Amino acid sequence: MGSTRSGVRVLLGVTVAVVLTVGLGAASAGVAAPPARAGTGSAPARPRVTPTVLTTTRAPGKVVALTFDDGPTARYTPQILALLARNHVTATFCEIGQQARAQPALVRRVVAGGHRLCDHTITHDPTVGTHTPAVIDQQLRASRDVLATAGKTDVDYFRAPDGNWTPNLVRLSARDGMQPLGWTVDPRDWSRPGTAAIVRTVATHVRPGSVILLHDGGGPRDQTVQAVAQLIPWLRAQGYSFVLPG
Ligand SMILES: [Zn+2]
Repeated sequence: MGSTRSGVRVLLGVTVAVVLTVGLGAASAGVAAPPARAGTGSAPARPRVTPTVLTTTRAPGKVVALTFDDGPTARYTPQILALLARNHVTATFCEIGQQARAQPALVRRVVAGGHRLCDHTITHDPTVGTHTPAVIDQQLRASRDVLATAGKTDVDYFRAPDGNWTPNLVRLSARDGMQPLGWTVDPRDWSRPGTAAIVRTVATHVRPGSVILLHDGGGPRDQTVQAVAQLIPWLRAQGYSFVLPG
């Protein structure tokens, strides 16, 4: 019994190793060239990946990181990108695989703006972390590869839908080369509380090193666009500069 089990385990191990090797080969083929970080002029170093959820910026000092979830969307992602470009701000976009697959040009525009990509799963399934490790791993790599292929760049981060982290989700996203990314400040812009409320919540709770959660998809985001237009100059006036999470 015991030896049969270990035999099965060895076989499974070999199978996983083969699948991983093939998967990684396909992924690197998808992101091979060119390493596009066009907007920045020089490619920033990829973050080091730790198997913990990063909730504040690694950079010290009076800095904040803006993050936008649930895109790309044809209506709102370009508006956010225009705002960021006008203000020389780089941000992180946690994109949903099936939307990225349908609109790869939007992913390329995000990357061309010097921003970083974050895997937010294929379908925004909030239960993804409860599946078996093999299913989680397959899903994470599938959405990562969609983003990497569309953007022709690495996918540096992973963010769990609805922040539903499980130990397996943290461990496997890190193992797949994506830093698990949480947040510090959540103004709940997705619930459309009004532009003033979004601005007020961020202004009240922001601290040096805050990662701020916002959305460029998942519903009407006019309030978010207006809030970002007000928050960028306000944060600058308070002495904050904008960084990537690290
Ligand atoms: Zn989301």
